[in-house]
Amino acid sequence: MTVANVTKSDRQKGRGFMKIDVKSFSAPCQCGREHKIHVKEIVIEAGAINKIPELISDIFTGKPEEISIICDDNTYTAAAEAVKDMIQGSKVVKLPPKGLHADNHAVKLAEEQLDGNTKLILAVGSGTIHDISRYIANKKGIHFVSIPTAASVDGFVSTVAAMTWNGFKKTFPAVSPILVIADTNIFSKAPYRLTASGISDLLGKYTALADWEISHLVTDEYICSKVCDLELKALDEVCSCISDLRGDVPKDKQLKAYEQLMYALLLSGIAMQMVGNSRPASGAEHHISHLWEMEVINKPLDAYHGEKVSIGLMIVAETYHMLKEAIRNGQYEMENYNGLDYMELKETFGPKGLYEGMLEENTPDPLEQIDIMDFENLLPRIADILDKLPSVDRINELLTMAGCVKYVRDIGLEEHIIPKTIRLSPYVRNRLTFMRLTKLIKLID
Ligand SMILES: [Zn+2]
Ligand SMILES: [Zn+2]
Repeated sequence: MTVANVTKSDRQKGRGFMKIDVKSFSAPCQCGREHKIHVKEIVIEAGAINKIPELISDIFTGKPEEISIICDDNTYTAAAEAVKDMIQGSKVVKLPPKGLHADNHAVKLAEEQLDGNTKLILAVGSGTIHDISRYIANKKGIHFVSIPTAASVDGFVSTVAAMTWNGFKKTFPAVSPILVIADTNIFSKAPYRLTASGISDLLGKYTALADWEISHLVTDEYICSKVCDLELKALDEVCSCISDLRGDVPKDKQLKAYEQLMYALLLSGIAMQMVGNSRPASGAEHHISHLWEMEVINKPLDAYHGEKVSIGLMIVAETYHMLKEAIRNGQYEMENYNGLDYMELKETFGPKGLYEGMLEENTPDPLEQIDIMDFENLLPRIADILDKLPSVDRINELLTMAGCVKYVRDIGLEEHIIPKTIRLSPYVRNRLTFMRLTKLIKLID
């Protein structure tokens, strides 16, 4: 079903190129909802950048001078310069790549350079440039176009901007791009570390989707099986060609693998739009990444988002498979739940002034509504859901083939951080995961 949505289509204007039929995602669904997505068109193709003038004329009727390109020095050379040449008269906002983060400082820098008459923003870059662009576009009430220069994250079509505001991580309402133009000739040439990070962000969907399914089983939380199927299919497609991404394979084959990866990453963003939140893309593995980003049990890390998710995925997969075995072998007892671990939360988050915020995030406590007997009765079915999660060996193999990071030491952390990470990471978001539910299960030998 999924990849059938990527079609070679000849449009009225006579162009033929690979595009995602976005309309197929906006429809009444068997889950009972009518999914709505905001992005109007997605093109993934080698040379897609040459179609920018035509594609933009479909969605924008203003003057070229009202178009501003936001990029950094690196992505200017990689793509934005060519884009500027194709839209004569467009303006360029060039940010310094070193130390560039999606924060109030970068927004200010961009706004200072941004032409006052801007009516359309083209984001040419990776995740950070996109978050800055979508934040500004939302503030100005204008559209933006996504031109990703690396297959590095799944957030290009996100509707929220993850920003750091005066030192605090915040999620701002923002706008989805109206159009995505992903040129394979550009994003396949990104530094490989960015691509590897995108692969890890994508593989993290395995545990995210398991968490969603388990939470649905335990609390009857809304789930859409169409969304899950779409994501799993795209994920499997990427896994089947994962070694082509950096292997010594014919160019065509390699570019095809890059397109699959970009497609799957964009689809993950579409899944979030369909559901209206990040549930289909973010579970316990992302909570681990978020915890480390808060820098309360570790020093600042020099690691990309996907790299932290990668290690989170390994930790979560190991934990889940171990618990699955324990459930099947009866090597567990149910634990009486006594509420949040206030002591450890205060000790950990207090020194940075984040304790109150953590209590707020955990109100209501998602474990409070769980009936321990009902939950115990569901454990065999949870084990069945976990059977669908690839084994730790398989995940390890995939990450190895793709050249992704896997262990805490790969990003400068020590082993002893793992138990603490497992205990505390479920608290960083008010979202039920199996990791959070493990607080109700005690392993016995
Ligand atoms: Zn649905
Ligand atoms: Zn992610």
